Amino acid sequence: MQTVPIHDSALSLIGHTPLVRLDRIAREEGLRCNLLAKVEGFSAGGSVKDRIALRMVEEAEKQGRLIPGVSVLVEPTSGNTGIGLALVAAVKGYRVAQPEKMSKEKSNTLKALGAEIYRTPTEAAWDSPESHISLAKRIVEETPNAVMLDQYNNPANPDAHYHTTALEILTSLSLVPSTPSRPSSGTVDVLVAGAGTGGTLTGLSRRLREANPELVSLGVDPVGSVLARPESLNVLKEGESAIYKVEGTGYDFVPAVLSHPNVTHWLKSTDTDSFATCKRLIRTEGLLVGGSSGASVHAALRWLKSEEGWRVAGGKEGKNVVVVLPDSIRNYITSSWLNDDSPTATADKSHSVATDLGDVD
Ligand code: PMP
Repeated sequence: MQTVPIHDSALSLIGHTPLVRLDRIAREEGLRCNLLAKVEGFSAGGSVKDRIALRMVEEAEKQGRLIPGVSVLVEPTSGNTGIGLALVAAVKGYRVAQPEKMSKEKSNTLKALGAEIYRTPTEAAWDSPESHISLAKRIVEETPNAVMLDQYNNPANPDAHYHTTALEILTSLSLVPSTPSRPSSGTVDVLVAGAGTGGTLTGLSRRLREANPELVSLGVDPVGSVLARPESLNVLKEGESAIYKVEGTGYDFVPAVLSHPNVTHWLKSTDTDSFATCKRLIRTEGLLVGGSSGASVHAALRWLKSEEGWRVAGGKEGKNVVVVLPDSIRNYITSSWLNDDSPTATADKSHSVATDLGDVD
């Protein structure tokens, strides 16, 4: 958060998110490195995508592509880019229309921000006429003054993370001195981020590698998606399904803004591990994050405890491992994975709180 006495609008509440130590989980896992989370749910619209919404709009304004009060923004999005765009549009005076699959919470937030929503089938292939991308293109053709900022191809997407998210992380690390009880390399040694468009992973990897050429950048991609490399990782194993419920990551095509050479390793994630680790983050660290955050933390732990990961960072004091937690539980309050009674949801009652309604937990 910027330290200004009064903010001019919600736009200056975009980004400036906290870097938080995941000390409890790190201790439970026996890690020696610093395990840190960039908690993007604290941004004005509630996700990492607010940053790209603001940057894409501001770049288009500079190019004269957008006129406040006249232009209509059309974007295919799984929700968070939509919320970011609708928030920026609300403040700046644009209309927004967006087609996609998303949770009820995301679509309600979008409606409240004044966006028009067109739902498309989740299972539609990206290049089929029913897909969110095809529909967005048709809406642009049919709507006067419509502009698609196109997060999949727009360099302002990774640039937003290069210029803001990465710089915030580096500044935070530079402000914390290395002490005998809390050693720190002063830079990011390992970055872990999920990929949807790949903008977060690409922009952060580029800037953080400039600061530390030894950076290990780990991309996280759901089983059933095709973004991981080598491509053999994406081949379904026996019993695995191509359908995943975690929102915001994974695709059936590789977006142009995803730069594979910037990513050192890829890890595949499953819904079960992602949702269980999301609940663990909430219960153990008190961080109210969404499913893709669980996917990245689970992947981080797996890699840090692997032979290579332990040697490079997991077993080394002072190494800084930064995991991006892209959004908050606000988007999924009524989702079945959050509300089920599975063992992971109810196992640890040791710090339950009884409310005055008699509810426990
Ligand atoms: N997690 C969530 C919840 C998201 O909405 C997104 C954006 N689709 C991501 C992760 C991945 O971000 P990016 O598009 O920058 O790869």
